[in-house]
Amino acid sequence: MNEEDSEQMALYLEQIGFREVKALREAQVVLLNTCSVRQKPEDKAFSMLGDLRFLKERFPDTVIGVCGCMAQLRADEIRQRAPHVDFVVGTGNLAEIPALVTEALQGARFTSRVALPERKGAVVTELPTRHVGRQGKLKAHVPIQYGCDKFCTFCIVPTTRGRERSRPTEEILDEVKRLADLGTKEVCLLGQTVNSYGKNLLEGKVPFSELLVKVAEIPGIERIRFTSPYPRDFKRDLIEVIRDVPQVMEQVHMPLQAGSNSELSRMKRLYTLESFREIMGEIRSLIPRVGITTDLIVGFPDETEEEFQATLAAVEEFRFDWAFMFAYSPRPGTPAAEWSGQLDEKTKRARLNELIAVQNAVTVSVNESRVGQEYEVLVEGASDRNPNMMRGYSREFSMMHFEASPDRIGRTAKVVATAGHHWGLSGELVASKSAD
Ligand code: SF4
Repeated sequence: MNEEDSEQMALYLEQIGFREVKALREAQVVLLNTCSVRQKPEDKAFSMLGDLRFLKERFPDTVIGVCGCMAQLRADEIRQRAPHVDFVVGTGNLAEIPALVTEALQGARFTSRVALPERKGAVVTELPTRHVGRQGKLKAHVPIQYGCDKFCTFCIVPTTRGRERSRPTEEILDEVKRLADLGTKEVCLLGQTVNSYGKNLLEGKVPFSELLVKVAEIPGIERIRFTSPYPRDFKRDLIEVIRDVPQVMEQVHMPLQAGSNSELSRMKRLYTLESFREIMGEIRSLIPRVGITTDLIVGFPDETEEEFQATLAAVEEFRFDWAFMFAYSPRPGTPAAEWSGQLDEKTKRARLNELIAVQNAVTVSVNESRVGQEYEVLVEGASDRNPNMMRGYSREFSMMHFEASPDRIGRTAKVVATAGHHWGLSGELVASKSAD
């Protein structure tokens, strides 16, 4: 979501005549996009703000803005700790960037715009238009929903991004059409709980599964992914669309978070281990080759050894392709951050390391079980280490490396997996399907 926000910020700046430069010292405007999901990125942002102070001292005319979730939450603290910042803009106010930059260039002192949009109704986004000068990328993110109504007890997102709002369907389809015209072949639809898309649209409600079908009808779009769905709302109609619509990839990110009902309930996740198991079973029985990834948190307040072991057991049981794994980081303003049963850092770190080891072993085993199977890969470019090796993702979202000439880039290819690794699959090219 932040990557997509950064792209929008760049487009807003282009609208008022700026262009991207490669070196910080050449920049007339510097926007720092921030994240509040854990403590570490916040610390990093404050440290970068410290570095930007030197830039401002050397080049006092440089405009410095802070954007994103930390800006949303901590405008006052930023003003105090980083007085060289010219403005702060929250997650719901990106459209104000051109005005804020212009005001700062005219000498405005610290300004902040952090009001979150109204809860109800479609988002009136008026997102900046991608145009030909901003060259088409093979893959692009398309935000379709903002904010979240779920209020998990560990999560700051409903505070930093506001309540759930969906973008109007026509606006999404227009954006995807423009991307297709610019040469984009794969889109990833983004939302905090993406499968509840449309819930708050006041008129012309379109369920998420139907939106996927509409996006798939756009000529030139060969691949559609989405992230992140909420497990409880993952219904049969969506599974059938993944199975039946060729443009929708056989890949699901299904955030489990914890492997015991007691911990899931403290997290206020609105499903149980049993219902999660049921959904996983249904997906796998209808789409046997599906790739499934997840998110997991260890060291949540009051997590017992037994609960932690249940998370390890869930990893073994569900055999996720990969997991994004984190030690719990208390976020001020969330319920769990106030609880007394905070675990010490050493325990959290040890549990995280153990979880990573278990998931790594599962990942290698899953990848090894794929050896001998044929995959359709969208070739994205050469491998960093070997220019003769191409890389790309399979439909199921396995990273694949294989020998091929660079003229394959931008097209799909058939690749047979020859070895499984922790990072993905090595393979051999079988034949290519021209996408020209
Ligand atoms: S569903 Fe996701 S974004 Fe929403 S509160 Fe829970 S973790 Fe945060």
